[in-house]
Amino acid sequence: MKTIGMIGGMSWESTVPYYRVANETVAARLGGLHSAKIVLVSVDFHDLERHMREGDWGAVGERLADSARSLERAGAGCIVLCTNTMHKVAGAIERAVGLPLLHIVDAAAGEIARHGVRRVGLLGTRFTMEDDFYRGRLRERHGIEAIVPSEADRETVNRVIFDELCRGRVLEGSRAAFRRIMGGLVDAGAQAIVLGCTELAMLVGPDDAAVPVFDTTALHARAAAEWALGEDSPEAQR
Ligand code: GLU
Repeated sequence: MKTIGMIGGMSWESTVPYYRVANETVAARLGGLHSAKIVLVSVDFHDLERHMREGDWGAVGERLADSARSLERAGAGCIVLCTNTMHKVAGAIERAVGLPLLHIVDAAAGEIARHGVRRVGLLGTRFTMEDDFYRGRLRERHGIEAIVPSEADRETVNRVIFDELCRGRVLEGSRAAFRRIMGGLVDAGAQAIVLGCTELAMLVGPDDAAVPVFDTTALHARAAAEWALGEDSPEAQR
């Protein structure tokens, strides 16, 4: 079994399920007391969030590239960046190390394609919903079109992520708002919902939408475990 390198802490709330799902996947495949071999670098999110909000993606990329180098020195065989948004600087991380980065979009797209879905409703931070690094990769590498909520609803989704979920607060009013927003995406033609932010499964799940809901956290962590076991799919190898 190979060793997974995780960059977590963005937020730490969502790194917890990464650790759990990777271990559960290995235990389910190998049985007994088997568990995943993981090296984790968990960052202090405070400064990174500020850099991100101020648009200083160069600083974000440098910090995460340093984390990736630490993982490489510690013996990790791959990089798993435990956040959707920070994949905006995936290139800076890939250039810093000689390890493959298991991209979260590829992990999610493999499962979406298996369901025959071609048009998804995407929820995430404003960067994930609005910038091209995420929707562009879904479209160009996987032929999946992503539609996003209105500007006002994108603002709500972004606020709930940073002001509530990243701080461990799961509020019923926000769940109701997300149900409404997901319903709107389905009405606009989404065949499935992508929880394109690693905290969103704390708030909503398959029972909250009329279409399949894909949780990028669980799919990414499972793909990491499959990589460690040598079972990774062609999507994950791209
Ligand atoms: N965890 C979130 C994501 O998956 C947001 C926090 C971040 O900006 O990394 O995008």
